[in-house]
Amino acid sequence: MVQVTELGYMGIGVKSLTDWKRYAADILALEVVDGDTPGRCYLRADNWHHRIVVDEDGTDDLNYLGFRVAGGEEFLEMKRQLEDAGIRVQMASSEEASQRHVLELMKLADPSGVPIEVFHGPHSQPNKPFHPGRRMHGRFITGDGGLGHTMLTQTVGWEKTYAFYRHLGMRGGVDYRFPVPGKSPFEAMFMSCNSRDHTLAWAFPGTKRINHLMLQYNEFDDVGLTYEIIQQNQIQMGITHGRHANDGMYSFYFLNPSGWMNEVGWGGRDANYQSEYHERDTYGHDPVKPAQKAAE
Ligand code: FE
Repeated sequence: MVQVTELGYMGIGVKSLTDWKRYAADILALEVVDGDTPGRCYLRADNWHHRIVVDEDGTDDLNYLGFRVAGGEEFLEMKRQLEDAGIRVQMASSEEASQRHVLELMKLADPSGVPIEVFHGPHSQPNKPFHPGRRMHGRFITGDGGLGHTMLTQTVGWEKTYAFYRHLGMRGGVDYRFPVPGKSPFEAMFMSCNSRDHTLAWAFPGTKRINHLMLQYNEFDDVGLTYEIIQQNQIQMGITHGRHANDGMYSFYFLNPSGWMNEVGWGGRDANYQSEYHERDTYGHDPVKPAQKAAE
């Protein structure tokens, strides 16, 4: 079975490009690069041409996720694998692929309707080293683990969602089973495709496709610095500092200008390839009520 190797990029829609450019550079420390069309900018986290495409289309939501396969052979094999599973795949034109700065691209949708792209050959620019939007102690951890992880909302249940992403070669399951007094437990599902503990997760229902995007630092002090910066800029916290039981990440969450959350973390452990579940985090990670409500 051919497998996607990483979450390579994502596209997001925003109401205000100006607000997002400022937020991306000054709060998240991403590098902002002007887009080739009006109303678009690119966000860099490493030497790739971009990791996030920001379009001023008013949606304030996720537009698409881009998953990488190793090369041209795997790309064709993935197309066969998806079609054999009865999943409709649309091959993108070479113009569309070059617009995404990849060699080849196909488009599909997950069972909840989230647009998914599978590509190979991202545009890598070692001649243009990553230049953070503000000071950092270290760098973002991307590499083999891809951009980071994202939590999506889903409308069709675990089984269909899991089966779809299994056809992309991802694996995982329920990592959390939170006890709810008098009711069945509340479950959260996580899937991985590389050394990163998880690349995709689902827990909360929501009006947006995306709940949060996690970016990982290699230096603990960047978690502290970002915390200080969001306090100074009166950015609304979403979830307090804590350590996740499943990926071991020390992290916290805050709201971006589109009303969904960014998580910044440090110290995560690798994927363990055997299922286990938790009833709570190691410590911390308390929801901050108004923000949590706004994000759901
Ligand atoms: Fe997360």
